[in-house]
Amino acid sequence: MVRWQAEVRVNLDAIRDNVSRLCASTNAAVMAVVKGDGYRHGMVESARAALSGGATWLGVTTLDEALALRRAGITAPVLAWLLSPGLPLREGIDASIDFGVATVAQLDEMIKAGAEAGKPVHVHLKVDTGLSRGGATMMDWPLLVHAAAQAEARGTVRVAGVWSHLAAADDPGHETIDAQLDAFREALSIAARHGVHPSLRHIANSAATLTRPDAHFDMVRAGIAIYGLSPVPGERFGLRPAMTARAKVMLSKRIPAGTGVSYAHTYTTTGETTVAVIPLGYADGVPRHASNVGPVRLNGRTHTIAGRVCMDQVVVDVGDLPVSPGDVATLFGPGDDGEPTADDWAAAADTTNYEIVTRFGSARTRRVYE
Ligand code: PLP
Repeated sequence: MVRWQAEVRVNLDAIRDNVSRLCASTNAAVMAVVKGDGYRHGMVESARAALSGGATWLGVTTLDEALALRRAGITAPVLAWLLSPGLPLREGIDASIDFGVATVAQLDEMIKAGAEAGKPVHVHLKVDTGLSRGGATMMDWPLLVHAAAQAEARGTVRVAGVWSHLAAADDPGHETIDAQLDAFREALSIAARHGVHPSLRHIANSAATLTRPDAHFDMVRAGIAIYGLSPVPGERFGLRPAMTARAKVMLSKRIPAGTGVSYAHTYTTTGETTVAVIPLGYADGVPRHASNVGPVRLNGRTHTIAGRVCMDQVVVDVGDLPVSPGDVATLFGPGDDGEPTADDWAAAADTTNYEIVTRFGSARTRRVYE
């Protein structure tokens, strides 16, 4: 018998199919963004599923994530883009990892590491077209492009890509999208004037992949959509959510009317009722913001969490319905059997589906692939 108490189930076929759907919708290459432990779906497993669905690139933030993909035997091109100074970049170059680069200082550090490795470093020059986060500002862009062109001429760098990131693609009509696309095209012209002709120009995240074909260029970088969640509230785009979070009821009991439930008694029973205790709490990623609002599916009915979300458990008031220890409570899943979705949880906890899935699970929550 398999013993478990709380689990996150990940449907790898769904990830594969979501990627196939994205691939069918564009002529651009698809980079599957598997940073953050594959949005907590498991980085290596998600990467393999995405590659089998047609993705040809993998995107991560850290060097460690990139190296972990290689250690798992994944040979597909990988781009890593969040690199603080002083990292062992040479290990990345030895492992044929491409780096995102935004400053001349970063580029110089990479060139040095490439010299140690005895091969050119493959970079994707990042331009800040309006997010004001990573990337060279349009003012500094010519400087970065010039340095990269010189290094490319010396054979120490290969500019594989020029890229940027959108600020408000989840709102497809947002005025910043056109402005950023204009700035991106301008940055590409400046690069071309310096003799930099990248084969991969990329700016689209999932939202732009799904709603803005004019933003696809040579490659799209899709994260949330490959896990089956929509980046645009209210739209589903035919995607299949891959993650299900569930746990077995630990305890059920009758309590009288007028009883305060959980810390601070923010919920009080209105009549004699049955409560079920579910062993998942904020240490496992259940948002405390979901106190008194988070939905839970139990024995074919959806209930709302009664009272505060605790560190390790939540309480559900099921009224007079039957419930027994061992019954399976589903917090969220694809929604096919009436269970709440990550979108429902996002709405309840006043956050995004990204945050729901990337928070979910803990060392004591088993992850099962199906
Ligand atoms: N590109 C970059 C630079 C990112 O940081 C992310 C994720 O935040 C993505 C692409 C993927 O975004 P999404 O999950 O919205 O597709």
